[in-house]
Amino acid sequence: MGTSTDGILAYGVDLQKLDSSDFSDYQNTDECEECSVTDWGVPCGECYGGLEDYVDAVLRRAGITGVGLIRHCSDLSPMYILGSRSFRARRGSPVKIATDTLEVSEEERGAIRLALTVLEQEQQQPAWLLASDWD
Ligand SMILES: [Zn+2]
Repeated sequence: MGTSTDGILAYGVDLQKLDSSDFSDYQNTDECEECSVTDWGVPCGECYGGLEDYVDAVLRRAGITGVGLIRHCSDLSPMYILGSRSFRARRGSPVKIATDTLEVSEEERGAIRLALTVLEQEQQQPAWLLASDWD
């Protein structure tokens, strides 16, 4: 197994490094007292396996669908795009992307803006972002 550097084309906003401490109600499953006293196989619903799970749950509760965190950079030093769509190319395997699939509706932009508000992140104009991921 070698390392792979993937290219990621994503529509969204660059949130750079996020830390679970950025979210006051984030609790990791590993640190959840309620889960530790019950059955590990049945999560309490108030804790999360990672930031992606947390953001999915928060946005779902707010009625926002189709927006989530897209992790890039590397496993050891994850960075995030909050976005609605992404394409990934593995090293040596170009991916064809039809230009008409890159059109973005106002509804899609609006969902990202609303997600930024719900997550208490600074408003940014969504755009197609080219990033990389080393895993
Ligand atoms: Zn729990």
